[in-house]
Amino acid sequence: MSDNLSQLKTRMALISRLGQTSALLDWDQQTYMPKGAAESRSEHSAAMRQVTHEMFTAQETGNLLANSENDLKGQDPDADDVRMLAVLRHDFDRETKLPAELVSEIARHTSLSQEIWIKARKTNDFAYFAPALDKMIDLSLRQAEYLGYEDHVYDALLDAYEIGAKQRDVAVMFADMKPYLVELTRAIADSSNPVDDSPIRGNFPVDQQKQLTLQIVSAIGYDTDRGRQDEAAHPFCTNFSRDDVRITTRYNPEFLNQAVYASMHEAGHAMYEQGSPPEYEATFLSGGVSLGVHESQSRLWENQVGRSRSFSKFVLPKLKSAFPASLAEVDPEAYYRAVNKVTPSLIRVEADEVTYNLHILMRFELECDLLTKTLAVKDLPEAWNAKMTEYLGIRPETDADGVLQDIHWSCGLVAYFPTYSIGNLLSAQLWNAASKSILDIDEKIERGEFAPLLNWLRENVHKYGRKYLPGELIKKATGEPLSSKYYMEYLNKKYSDIYSL
Ligand code: ZN
Repeated sequence: MSDNLSQLKTRMALISRLGQTSALLDWDQQTYMPKGAAESRSEHSAAMRQVTHEMFTAQETGNLLANSENDLKGQDPDADDVRMLAVLRHDFDRETKLPAELVSEIARHTSLSQEIWIKARKTNDFAYFAPALDKMIDLSLRQAEYLGYEDHVYDALLDAYEIGAKQRDVAVMFADMKPYLVELTRAIADSSNPVDDSPIRGNFPVDQQKQLTLQIVSAIGYDTDRGRQDEAAHPFCTNFSRDDVRITTRYNPEFLNQAVYASMHEAGHAMYEQGSPPEYEATFLSGGVSLGVHESQSRLWENQVGRSRSFSKFVLPKLKSAFPASLAEVDPEAYYRAVNKVTPSLIRVEADEVTYNLHILMRFELECDLLTKTLAVKDLPEAWNAKMTEYLGIRPETDADGVLQDIHWSCGLVAYFPTYSIGNLLSAQLWNAASKSILDIDEKIERGEFAPLLNWLRENVHKYGRKYLPGELIKKATGEPLSSKYYMEYLNKKYSDIYSL
């Protein structure tokens, strides 16, 4: 190995470890930290971020990177080291293209506008939030100009979450799905065979839910020797190495679904990180490649597995032994129907599999209009409500339940939403590929044999870490580029049956 490359790797390992240590501080903040520590913790986190950022963007990193690229010229383009330099080049350029003055302005405005958003949502006052959002859009546009793009300003921002993805491709993905999803949502609302979800509503003591969800995530393959589950207001997954990947969940004592599926979702994210190759540890190749691919892992375990008929047969006896009083009379078919109830709802995070992508689609359309200035921020609530009515057939009574519901725009996460839909689509495409290569996958799931599926994901997705671009990885794993076809087929088959369409 060249001297430059080995020095670069040492430096990157140190930067990775610092980032992981920051993540540990964040995990603690969202789980066990005493309330009074908020201010001092924000100082700790800011200090860690500053040191990490300075080290990463330093001239020395740039020099070592350029020299290593030179040393490796002509080598196999598929070699790990060559790929690692490409990933590093992407990240380094993104971090160093923005002038320091803009970076600190964004950081300042982000914390300010989040506070404004919290208040605006609480008091249902969009006008109070509008100037902050206006400024956030302008900062995003300035950022995009520095980062550069070929076709659409959206591309420069989307690239932060989904390397190489383009606005054009996302637009095509939604154009395929939109008429179909709107039609399916209407057909389900008019169905003569509605779903009753009362079997999963009742009395489900939290202590039992804790044990049960841990039992379920362990069964599907989440390694609790290299992770743990705790409680948090907003479930998330985080990791400090491949050997310490933690998940959180939240419990609702009257609604069983929330914790069971939030746990499976986060375990899906976690198993991806636990499956990152040991030799990539503390290099820029470790972990998940993009938000979209990450979300495909969580969605696959949550939906294709967790909300399937075969899983219902597997899990119901376990649920019954934890909650005999509430579930004694429930059979697997009633449980399966209950966990797949479709209802157009105002709130994205509560949406079912069918309507979820319509929530994302409208946010994507609105973001594009805001960034191209074809929509003014002051007109956003009206545009929001019109789309809700058109796509989901419901209109929010308040902006708090409408345009003010998501935190994303207030903290500068513009062009982030499409990664949720990419994840949904990809979950169905991966499931399709996996079920072709695993014999009797449904029967295996019914018997609680999840290892063949997890091994397939390890072999086709996890083991590559960040080595390939998301688009390359999808093609490698499924034999074709990302397509909405499998997701639509999946929804069609499943919901025509459930709702007798
Ligand atoms: Zn997720």
